[in-house]
Parts: sequence; structure tokens; C-alpha cells
Amino acid sequence: MKRAIFPGSFDPFTLGHYDIVKRGLQLFDEIIIGIGRNSTKKETFPIREREEAIRKIFKDEPRVQVAIYDCLTVDFARDNNAEFILRGVRCVEDFEYERNMAEANKQLADIETIILYTRPEYAHISSTLVRDLYAYGKDVSAFVPNHLR
Ligand code: ADP
Repeated sequence: MKRAIFPGSFDPFTLGHYDIVKRGLQLFDEIIIGIGRNSTKKETFPIREREEAIRKIFKDEPRVQVAIYDCLTVDFARDNNAEFILRGVRCVEDFEYERNMAEANKQLADIETIILYTRPEYAHISSTLVRDLYAYGKDVSAFVPNHLR
């Protein structure tokens, strides 16, 4: 049984995130999407709304679960008996950050991080982009899964 957590802020959950989860399901038996409560990041969408929205997106996929956490990611993984952390990488900036996190998490809890590279059609999509468009009342439907449109 291979279980991974997919941790992030998901403020909001985008097509890029969705693609990582779908592809992750080919590698893992179960994926737990962990929405980290981050006191230093200002949230746009309330965390409970994000949780509810992501649940709806995966309501027909029993191998995906959604949870909010407010501890270290490695502790969240351990509490859920997950041996892997799934992350996505879009660009070199993501790469440097992910490499440091992966190394730290390996050292802290002997947990492996599995990185999937973004597909080119999603490489420009970020939660920040969606938040900015949303703030100006623009249509975000091209960047988020169907259920959020
Ligand atoms: P965090 O605040 O932890 O970076 P995010 O919600 O921004 O959380 O992202 C969660 C994960 O999804 C990260 O690994 C991030 O690199 C990845 N990700 C974000 N957008 C995309 C995308 N368009 N394509 C692939 N991976 C992505």
C-alpha cells in the first residue's frame, strides 16, 4: 500500500494541482491532499472552503482524501502513515525550493519526496495568478478544475 501526501496551500486549487494529483494516482494507491494552515501567509479563500471545494472535485475518487493540517508536513505524513510526499515543479525557482524541502524532510523523518514536472500547458498556472484575476473580477475558469468554475 503506497500512500502519499500532497501538501500545499491550494489557495485556490488549480488545474496544475489537479494534474499532479491525477498523475500521482498512477504512482500511489492513496493520496491525501493536505491543506497546510500557514499563519505567515495571508489567505484569500477561507481554508474550510478550500477543503470543501477540493473534496467536491474528488468526490468520485475514493483514493483521494482531503485534510487540513497545522503541524510540520513530515508530522502530518507520519500521522497518516504516508511514506511519500508528492510535489510538483514548474520552473527552476520551484526546483531549488523543492530540493531543499525534500532534503530536510528526508533528514527529519526519512520520508521520500516524489516530484512530478508540470506539463507545459499548466506551467504558467499558479494560485497567485488565479487570486489576482479573481480580485479583479476576471474569469478564472481556464485555470481551475470544472467544479470551481
Ligand atoms: P505551497 O505554498 O506549499 O507551494 P501550493 O499550493 O502553491 O503550495 O502548491 C502545492 C504544490 O503544487 C507545490 O509542489 C507546487 O510546486 C505545485 N504546483 C503548483 N502549481 C503547479 C502547476 N501549475 N503545475 C504543477 N505543479 C504545481
